[in-house]
Amino acid sequence: MKILITGGGGFVGSHLSEALLARGDEVYILEPGGTQKVRHLLGHPRFRIVRDSVMSHDILDSLIAQVDLVYHLAAVVGVEHYVGDPYEVLNVNVNGTQNVLKVAYKYGRKVVFSSTSEVYGRNPKLPWSEDDDRVLGSTRIDRWCYSTSKAVGEHFCFAYHKLGLPVTITRYFNVYGPRLDKIDVGRIITIFMGQLLRGEPLTVIGDGLQTRCFTYVDDAVAATIAAGVGPGTDGQVFNIGTDVETSILDLAKLMIDISGSPSTIRFVSKEEVYGNSYEDIARRVPDNTRMRKILGVEAETPLRDGLARTIEWFRTQ
Ligand code: UDP
Repeated sequence: MKILITGGGGFVGSHLSEALLARGDEVYILEPGGTQKVRHLLGHPRFRIVRDSVMSHDILDSLIAQVDLVYHLAAVVGVEHYVGDPYEVLNVNVNGTQNVLKVAYKYGRKVVFSSTSEVYGRNPKLPWSEDDDRVLGSTRIDRWCYSTSKAVGEHFCFAYHKLGLPVTITRYFNVYGPRLDKIDVGRIITIFMGQLLRGEPLTVIGDGLQTRCFTYVDDAVAATIAAGVGPGTDGQVFNIGTDVETSILDLAKLMIDISGSPSTIRFVSKEEVYGNSYEDIARRVPDNTRMRKILGVEAETPLRDGLARTIEWFRTQ
């Protein structure tokens, strides 16, 4: 198949590109940012990069006309952006998604929209199945702008599906692995990674008992491919993640243990890291029945193995 990945130069996109090339697909990526994460694919005969963005309608039109399937991954992601640049989060995630859907509809091309576990907000009823409620805080708390932007994207997907467009939504749960963000920025694993490699204390926010379900990127990519090419996926939304819950404190201890780093743990307040425009989520756990039954994928990589591979990769960088 010919496949377009918007935001294909990012963390998940780079792994998805590799996996699709290995399947024999032809992969086009649309990427306005750096191409560091896909530089090892640059000479591949079935791989092409277009250095532009989903905000450019003409580029989308010429690319989507040529492909069979679109993975729409392009988005502004990362808590530092939610609290630092909410305008850009809303603009790219809402308007960029509309642009992609509009052109895909014109040509009748299937879209897999990459959404997030953040859409459930802080719903206290766990685990979250795909049709569960969204429970969010005030719009004065910038953290929720990302959740809202992705939920708007999902509404657009369902609206276009009603108009006849084949669309599938994937909601990712804390995906990690080699090439995740940059050290010190982005998500917790890269923040801990920087501290670990310098032997500094790992900054655990609050008591560290908040949990996440850390999902290894290869598992997430296998499910993403099935969401695009597998049967029974149109008009569906899928939680993509393991249901094994890990506290942030245990994550910190495990990373110290695996790396053999002299780092210790320092408890900090959320204000110290993110200021006042941040609200933490206590627990986040998917019901992944649909992923297992319809996509036929188990997120089975143990955290220790996935972290060992991730730490090793960052060490060699
Ligand atoms: N966190 C932490 N120390 C830090 C940064 C984040 O303990 O230096 C916590 C944060 O409070 C949250 C968890 O790590 O509970 C995961 O944060 P991340 O930014 O990866 O994204 P989230 O899963 O909240 O979307």
